[in-house]
Parts: sequence; C-alpha cells; structure tokens
Amino acid sequence: MPVDSILRGLKRFQKRVFPKHRELFHKLALQQRPTALFITCADSRIDPCLLTQTKPGELFLCRVIGNIVPRYPESIGGVSATIEYAVGVLGVPDVIVCGHTDCGVMKGVLNPEALKPLANVSAWLEHAQPAREALAKPDSDLNNPEFLLALTERNVVEQLKNLHTHPSVAARLDQGNLKLHGWVYHIGKGIVTTYSSRRERFIRIRTIKPRKTKPGKRNPGPAIKRAKT
Ligand SMILES: [Zn+2]
Repeated sequence: MPVDSILRGLKRFQKRVFPKHRELFHKLALQQRPTALFITCADSRIDPCLLTQTKPGELFLCRVIGNIVPRYPESIGGVSATIEYAVGVLGVPDVIVCGHTDCGVMKGVLNPEALKPLANVSAWLEHAQPAREALAKPDSDLNNPEFLLALTERNVVEQLKNLHTHPSVAARLDQGNLKLHGWVYHIGKGIVTTYSSRRERFIRIRTIKPRKTKPGKRNPGPAIKRAKT
C-alpha cells in the first residue's frame, strides 16, 4: 500500500528524529513565533522547509494551488484567514509568495478548456487571469516554455499586489514593519529567483558563500535533516 511508506516515515520520525530534538518540540508545544508567512503552491514537488532549511516553527505555511491570493474581500476563505492570522496575530515580519516552474495551474490558465469539467479549479483559476491578460498578445505563443515561465513570474507579482488589498497586510505595511517578497522556485535547477521592483524583473537569489571553518570546528548544519537519520 502506498500509505505504508508514509507510516514507515512516521515510525522513523518517532524513533529517531523526535528524541534527538525533544527540547525543540517541547518548546514548540507551548508556542510558535514563525519568521515568515510562506504562501506557495500545493504541488508535491515543493518542500518549503527543505528549500529554506528551516526548522519546525519557523515558517507559517499557506499552501494553495497556483499560490494564489484572492483580492480582499472578493473571496474570503482559507487563504484570507491564514494571511490575517499570520500577519495580524502572529506578527510575522515577512511574507513570501513562491511560485514554481512546471506549475499545472499556470498551464491551466493557458488552456482553461481542459479544466472546464472541474468547476472549483476553473473558478479558482480566474484569480490568475490578470497575469495572463497582462502578458498575452495576439501573436503570443502560449505553448512556448518561456511564456509559461513569464506567466508564472507575472502571477507571483499579481498575487503580491493582491496582498496589499488585505486590511491586516495594508496596516502593517503602513507601519513599515512588514516586507513582501515574490519568489519563483526552479525545481530542476534548485535555484530561486526573486522579484526586484526596482528592476521590474526576477533576479536570482545569490546565497552567501559559507565561511571557511577553522580547523577542528565543524559546521553544525541544519538542526533537522530530512534524510534518514
Ligand atoms: Zn503549482
């Protein structure tokens, strides 16, 4: 049964990972103070904590197909409630909207006919139409992979704009203590690009080179590894 591998993972977590990080989990049992709200697609290939090497308790996650943030108050629901709680109650200092390459939702935006039998998905895709309308010209080749990437990027920019319509976000932006970030994760390359409003395009995030450790000192690395421990 496919679920067996999931249960084996749970067993491994309880037997090896949890005892090793017992103190962290005991602290987390009482409170959370996440450093960011991370809004990304529900796509199984995205693992935000693996990608950012964050520990439990660091990212407040909102996963929804197409990493779409409907404009407020047009579609009050799970996404708007998650944003309000993270920004208004938990007071996260950063919000990251992360799109990704080969997104099925973005492909659906380019070919909505194929998804017509799916009433909920089709309705949800409407929130991504402004991205398509901003890019598509009569001579655009919608099947071009470059167009798909451009749409993916534009969709992230549109969702950042939509975030501004949420009262909790607008209030924190006015106070100057909230930052919004637009990312695109390139799955096959392991790289992330971020939207530069100054340059009006996505640029690669250059990660800092690790410092050379002194002889005898070991870099402890992330606290919790996803690999078998
Ligand atoms: Zn996706």
